[in-house]
Amino acid sequence: MKIEPIKNWLQDAEKPLVISGPCSAESEDQVLKTAALLAETEKVDVFRAGIWKPRTRPNSFEGIGEDGLKWLQKVREQYGFKLAVEVANKNHVEACLKHSIDILWIGARTAANPFSVQEIADALQGVDIPVMVKNPINPDLQLWIGALERINQAGITKLAAIHRGFSLHEMSPYRNVPKWEIPIELKRLYPDLEIVCDPSHIAGKRELIPHLAQKAMDLDMFGLMIEAHCDPDNAWSDKAQQLTPSALKELLDQLVVREKASSNQQFTDQLSVLRQQIDLLDDDILEKLGKRMEIAIQIGEYKKANNVTVLQVNRWQEILSKRIEQGKGMNLRDVFVKKLLEIIHEESIRSQTNITSK
Ligand code: PEP
Ligand code: MN
Repeated sequence: MKIEPIKNWLQDAEKPLVISGPCSAESEDQVLKTAALLAETEKVDVFRAGIWKPRTRPNSFEGIGEDGLKWLQKVREQYGFKLAVEVANKNHVEACLKHSIDILWIGARTAANPFSVQEIADALQGVDIPVMVKNPINPDLQLWIGALERINQAGITKLAAIHRGFSLHEMSPYRNVPKWEIPIELKRLYPDLEIVCDPSHIAGKRELIPHLAQKAMDLDMFGLMIEAHCDPDNAWSDKAQQLTPSALKELLDQLVVREKASSNQQFTDQLSVLRQQIDLLDDDILEKLGKRMEIAIQIGEYKKANNVTVLQVNRWQEILSKRIEQGKGMNLRDVFVKKLLEIIHEESIRSQTNITSK
């Protein structure tokens, strides 16, 4: 993908780029009031508002529609913010272009549907406008990349990604599980593509937002999209997760923004010593895993010769509980030890099954 650095298309874009505004535009008064309060914080670069809202259940507020775009234009005139709006189809794109919206974003439900993304991409052929693509609701990195590629292939190079968490049927304190490893992998694959974190939709409730925003900064994400409303408790959508502009200011004042690298020589030297130690330990771990797999293969052959099942559930149970207990004495969290063992066990089972099925 050919991606233009964000600094080329968002003047003075500095880390963190802050995109804020209400979940939905509700009335001219609500939009302008929220914008006025956000302008007072002097911390916001881009004003966001949902004009068409993809709601989970019908008969709830589905967005104000095109009228809201005129209110946004007033926001830009009065406060100088750039404007960002979610688009889900070609009509939305056309309406936004007609009203000179500065940035379009594709929502999580739309990003999950290649037909919709392609329709948007087709409507953007030959248009020069920045587009941000949220992760699809399901934790599928390829689908996220595919959506970015469709937009990129339409000629859009002013591109960024938005991480908003994933909708899973899983116990979690969050509305959408962050699965940080997915945006981290996206960053590894496309180092030029900046990622904006949307802690509001990850959190689902406002108390969890500051911690998530800090985590995004620690992971070197470029910006934050945080929902703010002049009267969050009476918002027409996503009320539990919207901040007041003053709470947003407090969050941003407390945010520690870290640099990618440091020019402090002592730090760089110290870091490289510690990294050498990590490299040696990784060598050890891999060597031991290799040996462990060899033994697992031997066991597989024995099992085959004696016609016993590959899965020995009692033994697996014993390993799990013993190692989890051991790990506690080494400051390793039980969830971590369990996940690690599950991956190792799965690979052993796979290689043993290969042997028995030969
Ligand atoms: C939104 O930003 O208000 C929104 C609908 O987000 P998402 O697509 O992440 O659910
Ligand atoms: Mn929302």
